[in-house]
Amino acid sequence: MRSLDENIKKRLQRYYELKRTIAEKKHAQYLEGLYQDYPEIKDFENKRTEYSLNKIRANIKRENQKVQYYTEQILEIDQQLNIFLQENNIPLDYEKIKYECSFCQDTGWYHNDYCVCTEAALKILNQQDNPFAPPENMVFSAFDASIFSDKREKEFFSGNISPNEAIKGIKKMFTVFIDNFDQNFKNFYLFGSPGTGKTFMMACVANALREKGINVIFIKAVQLFEIMAKRRILLNSFNPDPVEQDTVRRIIDLIWKSEILCIDDLGLGAKGISNTYADFIALLDERLNSGLSTLITSNLKPKELANEYDERIGSRITGNYDLTPFEGKDVRREMAQTRKNKRP
Ligand SMILES: [Zn+2]
Repeated sequence: MRSLDENIKKRLQRYYELKRTIAEKKHAQYLEGLYQDYPEIKDFENKRTEYSLNKIRANIKRENQKVQYYTEQILEIDQQLNIFLQENNIPLDYEKIKYECSFCQDTGWYHNDYCVCTEAALKILNQQDNPFAPPENMVFSAFDASIFSDKREKEFFSGNISPNEAIKGIKKMFTVFIDNFDQNFKNFYLFGSPGTGKTFMMACVANALREKGINVIFIKAVQLFEIMAKRRILLNSFNPDPVEQDTVRRIIDLIWKSEILCIDDLGLGAKGISNTYADFIALLDERLNSGLSTLITSNLKPKELANEYDERIGSRITGNYDLTPFEGKDVRREMAQTRKNKRP
């Protein structure tokens, strides 16, 4: 049996209680509608109840002949009801509540262990209270490659391919990554100047994986360093606030163990809290060792990481990440410019 944190256990229990309540309410509504449309069913049921009570009474009085009579009557009613249901295309088990999971009847519990459906339930619970979800509007269906120039220019990719060709290639590469996510452990470092589509691309990947039920964390690098700094302060405090400590512990756990971690904007703006670098390296190492994929966007070239951050951070990334360059004009600025020009 898997062991679950007490808090998770309680939430899982509430999740299933709610699921059962919803199923029961839905069923009550269904029955109400059914009896309205087919009052005959209610008549059959009432008659059945009446005969059943009579049978019990006869049983108590040991009136064997009457017992026999009511048994036959009940059988007869059941047969008539079945025929009526079939004629009207009503399921024979209409009075049974339809639970989503046929194993555990939405209790989460099957054969003295957690049911297989708890796996999916835990994922849903995880995503429900995920404070670090990717921006919802950044999805592949909203991705427009045409805003990237299709001219091959010397300053971008040495003129070998156009930004438009490059971005399409990157999108294709990530589609393969998403499709093979379960079998293929990979890390990506998306780098380039501002407005070249790095964050948008990473968010598209994150949202696509999230839709597959994968547990995703999408966090700004600044925020990640702040959380790490807070943990340090709490660790060094003589009298830490237990509630705050618990909150930070949970957040750290969420980030460390997420199936995919997306860190946005690791760059000059996210520097400053240097005593957290060791924690950051530990995070990268732990994820590498556990085979958990990480994606990072940055305006720093891989070789600049060592100078601007830390030698060890630089080597972790250049050694274990697929380095993915984004080049081209600032599409955000270009789009804003186009909008401005269009104005009357
Ligand atoms: Zn189940």
